Formats: sequence, C-alpha cells, structure tokens
Amino acid sequence: MMNLFGMTLTQVQALCDSEGWPRFTARQICDWLYAKRAATVDAMTNISLARRARLAEVAMVERMEPCNCQVSADGTKKYLFATTAGSSVEAVFIPEADRATLCVSSQAGCKMGCRFCVTGQNGFHGQLTAGEILSQLFTIPEFGQVTNIVYMGMGEPMDNLEAVLASTEVLTAPWGLGWSPKRITVSTVGLLPQMRLFLQRSQCHLAVSLHNPVAAERLSMMPMEKAWPIAATVEALKEYDWSGQRRLSFEYTMFGGLNDDICHADLLARMLRGLECRVNLIRYHASPGTPYRTSSAQAINAFRNRLQANGVNCTLRASRGEDIKAACGLLAGTSKA
Ligand code: SF4
Repeated sequence: MMNLFGMTLTQVQALCDSEGWPRFTARQICDWLYAKRAATVDAMTNISLARRARLAEVAMVERMEPCNCQVSADGTKKYLFATTAGSSVEAVFIPEADRATLCVSSQAGCKMGCRFCVTGQNGFHGQLTAGEILSQLFTIPEFGQVTNIVYMGMGEPMDNLEAVLASTEVLTAPWGLGWSPKRITVSTVGLLPQMRLFLQRSQCHLAVSLHNPVAAERLSMMPMEKAWPIAATVEALKEYDWSGQRRLSFEYTMFGGLNDDICHADLLARMLRGLECRVNLIRYHASPGTPYRTSSAQAINAFRNRLQANGVNCTLRASRGEDIKAACGLLAGTSKA
C-alpha cells in the first residue's frame, strides 16, 4: 500500500489518473495532506465517499510521530523519531526571539564519515523518504511556530537528493505549504553533481560545510574531500549568480589548533574572493571519542575579525542545546525515552 504523505502533486495526479479520477481530486488530496494536515484518508471529507473508500484500499496517510523529546535549558527541543525501516533520526527545534528554526535529518546516519561528527562516526543506516523528512515538521507540537527549516540534521542531503527535493517542493508549492524558498536552507559537504542538480531544480538557500580551506587538513577531517575537493566546489559555485534572493553560506566549525589560525582566515578569504556569500562560524562542542578541541573565544574573535577585515561577511553562530546533545555534530539518534 502506498503512503500519500510526502507525495508531490504530480505523484498524486498519477494515482488519480490511474483510477480515472479528475485532476482536481489530486489537488483536493494534497490540500488535505498538507494545508489541512489530515492524518487519515477518511478525514478528506470533500472527496466522495466512494472515492475515499477506493483510496483507502490502495493508499494510506502514514507519518512518523516523535517518540521522545528532550528539552534544553535554553528552550531548544530535540525530537527522536523511529523510521519505518527501524532506524532512529532526530530533529531539533530552536526558538529565538524573532524566529524559530527546525533542523531536520535527511538520512538515518550518514555515509560521509566526517571525523568530528557523531552521526558520521555511527555510519549509514538508510535513506529517509520525503514523507519521513516532512514528518519531522508536521508531527511536532511546534508545527505552527516554525519559521525556517534547515536540512542540517543527520545525513548529507545531496546524497538523498530526490527525497529532499520532493520535501522542499511540498514545503514551497502552492498546493503544499506555500512557503517561500527563502525560509529553507539545505546543506552539503560539496557533492558536486548533486549540488549542481539541486541548484537547477530548487530555489532554496545552500549552505556548504567548508570547515578548512587547506585541502590536506580538510581531508584529515572530512574524507569526502578526496572525491569532491572544496576548492573545486567553490569554483563551481562561482559560476552561479548569487545576487538574487537565494543565499549561499559556508559553515565553518572552529576546532582549537586545527583550523582556527589567522592564516586559515586569510586562505579562506582568498578562496571565497569574488563570491557573494556569508561564512557562519560555529563553536565546536568537544565530544567523546573525537580528537578535536574547542576553539578559544579569543581565537574565534580574532578569526572573525580577520575575515571581516578581508571583506568576508561573517557571523558567529550562537551555540544551542549543548546540554541535550542537539548542537551541530552531536546528533546520534540515541536519545531514548
Ligand atoms: Fe554527515 Fe554532516 Fe556528519 Fe559529515 S557532518 S558525517 S555530512 S551528518
């Protein structure tokens, strides 16, 4: 039996076509699934009883529900979900004064193996469907408060591109939630072919996990540097026009004594020269089992000042939810009830 939740209008139309139903029925179904958040076929009351009965024979509405929630002292909430394939994923709700961001997972685990990341060290456990990605928003109590979504939880979104694009289509399409793509940011370590496809097929913002401008050093932190060198990724990004609505940012997690030297700031500024972008500096949270250290506040400030002196827009990301392991690189899918 197929799951309607997570389907795009095109996919629902194909189902309606196969049943000989008119196109507007597909729009009605999508309206129930997304705008009205119907949890069952039966709830779709403006569809005839006969069609609802037939629809219930071939399809259902199945959403992952959170099975645990941990609340940080700063109000950040980490939700745990069990996928239909038996894995665990996490989503993090981050309320701020003027916005509320939801950080969603795109895969159960991750193949990229970044050495500083708990998710990467725990390996890959399966792809999420578009419905499983969207469930992380639709089933939390804060659904109505979320102003922004970032695909920066577990997984590499470009390694599950079709499901990620289907989910962003549901979020942005008029038959879905009708959000502006400016409210959505998708991250990548720089898988070039998929990143190019993403830029062609989506208007959402892009965040590239850069973390080190020196190839050999980046390789020691991020094995994917070998297949997709960051220098080539940045050069490819220079071919796109970033002067419009879509924003490009680079994530740069600061590790003590590894990538927080002033010369790294100079190399980073040189690498990004000519590119309309922002650098988000993130304080690393030292976690067990990794050899990395937290950068000192002094080093972070000096790094930021040097980037700004070199003309790079940059912000220092406030650290949230450290006490519940909800911060960047700490999602492990292990917060049991
Ligand atoms: Fe995967 Fe992101 Fe962790 Fe790297 S940092 S292993 S891409 S989840």
